[in-house]
Amino acid sequence: MARPTHSSSSRTAVFWTRNDLRIADNPALSAALLSGASVVALYVLDDHTAGKWRLGGASRWWLDGSLRRLAESLRSLNVQLVLRRGLAKEVVPAFMKEAGGAEIFWNRRYGAAERLADQDLKASLRSDGYTVRSFNGSLLTEPQTITTGAGGPYKTYSPFWRTVRPKINKSAPLPAPERGQHSLSNYPSDALDAWRLTPQSPNWAAEFPEHWEPGEAGAMKKLDAFLDGCIDGYVDGRDVPGRRATSRLSPHLQFGEISPRQIVWSASAQGDGAAVEKFLSELGWREFSYHLLYHFPDFPEKNWRTDFDAFPWREDEFGFAAWTKGQTGYPLVDAGMRELWATGWMHNRVRMIAASFLTKHLLMDWRRGEAWFWDTLLDADIANNSVSWQWVAGSGADAAPYFRIFNPSAQGERFDADGSYVRQWVPELAKLPSRYIHAPWTAPEAVLREANIRLGTTYPEPIVDHAHARARALDAFKSISHANRGNEP
Ligand code: FAD
Repeated sequence: MARPTHSSSSRTAVFWTRNDLRIADNPALSAALLSGASVVALYVLDDHTAGKWRLGGASRWWLDGSLRRLAESLRSLNVQLVLRRGLAKEVVPAFMKEAGGAEIFWNRRYGAAERLADQDLKASLRSDGYTVRSFNGSLLTEPQTITTGAGGPYKTYSPFWRTVRPKINKSAPLPAPERGQHSLSNYPSDALDAWRLTPQSPNWAAEFPEHWEPGEAGAMKKLDAFLDGCIDGYVDGRDVPGRRATSRLSPHLQFGEISPRQIVWSASAQGDGAAVEKFLSELGWREFSYHLLYHFPDFPEKNWRTDFDAFPWREDEFGFAAWTKGQTGYPLVDAGMRELWATGWMHNRVRMIAASFLTKHLLMDWRRGEAWFWDTLLDADIANNSVSWQWVAGSGADAAPYFRIFNPSAQGERFDADGSYVRQWVPELAKLPSRYIHAPWTAPEAVLREANIRLGTTYPEPIVDHAHARARALDAFKSISHANRGNEP
């Protein structure tokens, strides 16, 4: 195809927005506007390119709100947001032609299928004569720029972060761009309502708006609230699920409504104390996850440690259903799974305990849990989710050793000592005294009666005994452990 020709005054630049749904500190958008061309933004709902990692249900709810906010912000810059649906490799070139676009700008993605698709598209657009410019809009340091002394990828977090931390760009993030001089375009666009991104019947996302405000402004509010109120208690409080001690920025980061650079800039303005450093090191885990995903693109599907390919995972549909519904009989696990269902988010400590329960107490393949989280988490992130699941399961990079098996009751006593988290999410246990709240089956009958609990009726008995599950998991692990040494990729 010959490239359409344009006079410089009528040049059109397309900003293809993906997981960067913001206007501030958006290098692709800023560059498009600075190019002097008339800018139009394009979002493509592509349910095919990412294969099984197409957006999950909770993420679709978020996307709906985020696109609405982005359309308003872009309009204030005289930039129309055009919505199209279909295969990006077909929709994007067709739109370039339709808009008479000469240049296209985007921020890079790192999931295997998307990276490949972007590479192919870049090559074909260039061979058609278009200018393609891509940027880093979502990471502090891109994976291809970080190598060990030996030239390979990092496989453990601490040395990775020691290398990356001093390299973090400390300059101010890009401000929101100025309003373009060009007029607002009026290309045909899908109606967002027609995409039906929010669940209809039943509307299981009904409670989400009580907890979340998708969009750039909502992200800034979360950041400000965290930096003004919580960060001082982050080091001690971040493991306590009943306390609001973490930022809850994860869905905003996942959709690119805020950049990590904006977060680092604002957090660093608070000084360089232990709390800020700890918080940045958690962002470092996100960076590390992307580093692993980039260098080991199969991470979401395959055991990183190949000895786990022989692991004797169980099929247990009853156990899986109980886990997803928060009916395992272990209050902390159940509280977490119910928090996830009601709010689309779960506290990190409880994610670890719930994931450990599935993979070790129920001996179910981490990929089952990964898929459930993918569908129900508002922050479902291809890198963080897969790396974290493999970390918990023991099959991943720098993973928790398989033989370290969380006791959910002991974890509850330690991190939810007053039981406030369990009382919030498992209200049928609310009247139980704190000493029994993480192990209701140990409460005397009179105490249960007083608290209106009938085990097995109003709240389940544990679906599996901890000691039995622990021994079974260790046996399973032993069956593959002869191959455990030196089997990392
Ligand atoms: P904060 O403590 O305020 O941290 C700030 C940011 O740092 C987070 O928003 C997140 O982007 C990043 N971060 C924090 N902890 C981690 C971590 N352990 N690994 C990677 N990044 C981290 N996080 C996701 O963003 N998406 C997922 O799909 C996801 N799946 C997970 C699955 C399991 C089984 C586990 C154990 C963890 C998972 N996490 C995931 C990591 C972590 O639980 C969340 O990032 C965190 O709870 C988000 O809350 P926050 O924004 O308040 O975190």
